[in-house]
Amino acid sequence: IIAGIYSLPNAREIGNVGVKTVVYYCCTTAFAVAIGITSVLIISPGTKEASLRIREDRQAVLAEYRAEFEADTGQIYNDPAAYPEYRAFVAQQEGEGIGQTGFQGGYARIQATQDRTIGDMLKDELLLPILANPFNALAQSPPNSLGIIFFAILVGLACVIIGEPARGVGQFFVSFSEVMMKITLWIMELAPYSIGCIIASLVATLGYDALQSLAWYCAAVIIGIGAHICILLVLVATFGKMNPFTFLKGIRNPWIIAFTTTSSAATLPVTILTTQENLKVSPKVSRFTLPVGATINMDGTALYEGVAVIFLIQLFGGLDDVPIVMTVGKTLVIFVTAVFASIGAAAVPSAGLVTMAIVASAVGLPLYYIFLIYAVDHLLDMFRTSTNVMGDMAGAVIVNRLESGKL
Ligand code: ASP
Repeated sequence: IIAGIYSLPNAREIGNVGVKTVVYYCCTTAFAVAIGITSVLIISPGTKEASLRIREDRQAVLAEYRAEFEADTGQIYNDPAAYPEYRAFVAQQEGEGIGQTGFQGGYARIQATQDRTIGDMLKDELLLPILANPFNALAQSPPNSLGIIFFAILVGLACVIIGEPARGVGQFFVSFSEVMMKITLWIMELAPYSIGCIIASLVATLGYDALQSLAWYCAAVIIGIGAHICILLVLVATFGKMNPFTFLKGIRNPWIIAFTTTSSAATLPVTILTTQENLKVSPKVSRFTLPVGATINMDGTALYEGVAVIFLIQLFGGLDDVPIVMTVGKTLVIFVTAVFASIGAAAVPSAGLVTMAIVASAVGLPLYYIFLIYAVDHLLDMFRTSTNVMGDMAGAVIVNRLESGKL
């Protein structure tokens, strides 16, 4: 996030175009998450019959863990004093290693949720985490994502405002982010093999149910994306004064490239060229809006993150190791973190899946559950990346129109 903010072309020089672009991107990303949340709540893929059977199977597995834990430690698993240990035990059984041990106060927080007002929830789940000591936020397990994001935004903004004297710090984070990206890409090289293994093991252990349940989940994402595309077209027609069909015809090439490469960054050169040539957007606007858009504006990713986390909560919420109930506060946390997680996602394949951990840990969903949706991630990445790129081009058309006459 620091690198993303720092790499924006000089925000002050860009002035008007910059403000309009950022406002447009923030609004459409927020729209996208809201549409995703609505879609998953209406379709409710996590409560379909096939999903319920997956849940039952999972319950049986957890009952074994519970018995084993209670026999080994002599403690009752849901005793507040023993509960973090129990969650760590399950996490370990799930192959989760040390990272997840020492879950702090999760049980107490969930229990306390029942009698709290919205004000209390905003304070405890939004305000206090945001204002946390950033080192604590990084070191605690699970990490306090909101605190980390907020501090990163402050550092990024400060670097941009200070300019030359802060160049070293800004450059450090830009390079560091490249390093992390390389490591992530190495790991992603293994994805085809691991996805094969995951699908095989899913079908072998959960049977046909897993595929059916995942199909409903994909439907929630794809229908949400369809609805969001309609909104983008209305915005293009209203504010960009462009016929939606002309727009759709004009964006065909980058749209297909984004769909097949699943990377907004890889598509960027074609996106810029097409936007200038087919959509007649001025170079000054397109050269700013599109690279910024590829970095921070990911409508498809934002929508997907909200759907995915809520689907997993529908599916597993309330089980022994997922003491989560969907409340207004939780929905708000998912909304906010999904927006930031999409901003923080790099424009490369599967980046959205990686930053989804931010949203999941913000609501206390154990990360090992994300593996269930890993199996269909590539398919959904095609849809979300092409929507990300379409959102950027819609932004370029609209900002160009709003600016026309001035440039
Ligand atoms: N692949 C997407 C992109 O490049 C990011 C994501 O994984 O959602 O835009």
